[in-house]
Amino acid sequence: MHVLITGGAGFIGSHLAEAYLQRGDWVTVIDDLSTGSIRNINHLKSNERFAYVIDDVCHARVTAELVDMADVVFHLAAAVGVKLIVERPVHTITTNLEGTEVVLEQASKKSKKVIIASTSEVYGKSESFPFNEEQDLVIGATRRARWAYACSKAMDEFMALAYHRERNLPATVVRLFNTVGPRQTGRYGMVIPTFVDQALRNKPITVYGDGKQRRCFGHVFDTVKCLVALAEHPGAIGKVVNIGSQHEISILDLAKLVIKITDSRSEIKFVPYEEAYAEGFEDMMRRIPDTSRLKELVGFAPEISTAEIIQSVVDDRRHRSHLR
Ligand code: UDP
Repeated sequence: MHVLITGGAGFIGSHLAEAYLQRGDWVTVIDDLSTGSIRNINHLKSNERFAYVIDDVCHARVTAELVDMADVVFHLAAAVGVKLIVERPVHTITTNLEGTEVVLEQASKKSKKVIIASTSEVYGKSESFPFNEEQDLVIGATRRARWAYACSKAMDEFMALAYHRERNLPATVVRLFNTVGPRQTGRYGMVIPTFVDQALRNKPITVYGDGKQRRCFGHVFDTVKCLVALAEHPGAIGKVVNIGSQHEISILDLAKLVIKITDSRSEIKFVPYEEAYAEGFEDMMRRIPDTSRLKELVGFAPEISTAEIIQSVVDDRRHRSHLR
């Protein structure tokens, strides 16, 4: 099988590429390296079944050619990370909308299977827990930049489902919840790599707000297993599916766990949201996926524990930067 991964030099994309190569499949990656990094795919370059193109998915002619060669397309290229979204809203909106439009259009011309990566952000401020794929999405005011991400991704979902209904495109939308693991950078604000880097340097751990906000963190290996299984399942076509873990932890407890695992001398520093992000920033106090649809389809959901996830990020950091 030939797999095309847009955003394949990114954190999740590079792990997905690796998984398909390990199965003996052929993989092509397209990435403009805006948030992805060539370092994420360097180790794959010597594999004869691997190819990569450094370009923007919005370039329809390039994407068309790559889609043509593929049996299945994973569209992961997107502007990600709350920090980036708040700082560069124009880039976020245009990248997310245009890129998906090009991928869907090209895939529909050739009737290629497409998996569109969406995000748990689309649930927004909903307080109906756990988040189920069929429930209403609750998005904040348009003057608050964060919501541009949720809205652009919700539009991507509408587009994917519309192509499926109207043009018979075999498309699946996956809503990825907080995903963590080796190679993820803290540069775009992601909390676990940020906390681990701070802890390994014995620097203060920056807990935003009061730290009572809760998240469920899934390991990227589990996420990739789910992506591969969903792409193979005919029942996933035309559906929106959550991918995430149900192990919930508050950000304050997460900071304490990181300190314990790294045996760090770091202290916890509470940082007001206005200082961490722009003024008027809204955070979600809780985010937990309903994974019953995922389990029904593929038989499992992400299970790797938060402690193991932290440990894998610590191992990755120590391995790469010899911090200790
Ligand atoms: N967070 C934090 N300190 C940091 C980075 C993030 O307390 O240095 C918090 C952030 O405000 C949010 C949670 O950790 O409540 C998860 O943030 P992340 O950006 O990783 O993902 P999100 O769930 O916001 O998409």
